[in-house]
Amino acid sequence: MRLRNKPWAKEKIASYPQYVIPNPEQYKGKWNELFGNDHPLHIEIGTGKGQFIVGMAKANPHINYIGIELYPSVIVSALDKLLENDLPNLRLLNVNAKDLESFFAKGDVERIYLNFSDPWPKKRHEKRRLTYKSFLQLYENILVDGGEIHFKTDNRGLFEYSLVSFSQYGLLLQYVSLDLHNSDFEGNIMTEYEEKFSAKGSRIYRCEVKYPN
Ligand code: SAM
Repeated sequence: MRLRNKPWAKEKIASYPQYVIPNPEQYKGKWNELFGNDHPLHIEIGTGKGQFIVGMAKANPHINYIGIELYPSVIVSALDKLLENDLPNLRLLNVNAKDLESFFAKGDVERIYLNFSDPWPKKRHEKRRLTYKSFLQLYENILVDGGEIHFKTDNRGLFEYSLVSFSQYGLLLQYVSLDLHNSDFEGNIMTEYEEKFSAKGSRIYRCEVKYPN
């Protein structure tokens, strides 16, 4: 993602601690206390500017959502969307996904969304891909048994790599589309990247995989 430096972003984020949770460690194992209900929790890793997670939270009021994004200059756009919509079932974390286990206990999360994750095409950067085996282990450590990953991307190489990585890890493939926008999949909510690349004619690949029960 091209980053426009926004020196004011950190300060803005800090002024909305009710939306971008400043100390997520304190909710590990008890996110239901933050949301005030026992609804399932779905998280998106690499939420970017937030269009997908805001759309999902609007469409599914009985699911709690957390959008996770590393860069303040990016997540601040997701915060703006949350301020416009004031969704009680959506909160944001400005953290690195490699630290997920500091914020979530085993069983806290029912589903993980990975949308248009950075492809890291060079072999020497394989470990940085969010579908590399060490990330799949990290996800297993916070998901419920039988938890799911829903993944979409326009990057064919990353998609092919990820299907093999999921399979080698022992995940069960439940859905796959090699052309999401020309498939019978209903209820797709587009991300910012998805809009941009599909407008240029790129195909969108999508799959759902499940951990063993
Ligand atoms: N999902 C959005 C979309 O589809 O429009 C953004 C896609 S962008 C290519 C990938 C995003 O993932 C970037 O905003 C990046 O900062 C974020 N990201 C990458 N690695 C991350 C990590 N380890 N933890 C949190 N966010 C990460």
